Amino acid sequence: MKLLYPDLYLESIFSIDFDKLSHNGIKGIITDLDNTLIAWKDKRLTEQLENWLREAKKRNIKLIIVSNNKNSRVYNFAEKVGLPAIPNANKPRRKSFQCALNQLGLPPEEVAVIGDQVFTDVLGGNRMGMFTVLVVPIDDKEFLGTKVLRTAERLILRKITKQS
Ligand SMILES: [Mg+2]
Repeated sequence: MKLLYPDLYLESIFSIDFDKLSHNGIKGIITDLDNTLIAWKDKRLTEQLENWLREAKKRNIKLIIVSNNKNSRVYNFAEKVGLPAIPNANKPRRKSFQCALNQLGLPPEEVAVIGDQVFTDVLGGNRMGMFTVLVVPIDDKEFLGTKVLRTAERLILRKITKQS
C-alpha cells in the first residue's frame, strides 16, 4: 500500500521547489509526458514550461522523459525541448526506469519521478526507491477549474502523502 503513496503531491510541475529538491540530494528527474508536462492531446511547448526546463537546467538537474506513449509523440516533443526520452516505457515496470537511471548516470536515491498517475509513475518510482512526486493531471485541471480542484486536493492531500 505504501508503494502507492507519493512523497509529494502538487498541483502541477510548476509548484516544484527545485532548491528543496537539490537540498534533499536530488540531482535528476524522470518525468512523465502526457498530462504532466503537457495536456494529453497537446503538442505545444508553453513559455511556462520552457522557463521550468530552464530553471532545472540552471540548477544542474538532469532531466529525462519516460512515457508509456508511442515513439513518435514522445520523440517529437523530446526533440523540441532537447531532452532524452524513453517512449513505450511500460511503467510501472522496472526496465525503463532502470534504463533512465543509467542514462542519467545517477543512483535511484538521487532521482525524483514526476507524473500524474499513481499506478504507473508513483508505483514505479517507489518500487525503484526513488523520490516520487504526483501532480494533478493537466486535463482534469482544465476540465474542473482550479477552484473546485483546490478543495478536492486539500482533502486528498491529507490522505495521500507519506509524511501525513
Ligand atoms: Mg501521464
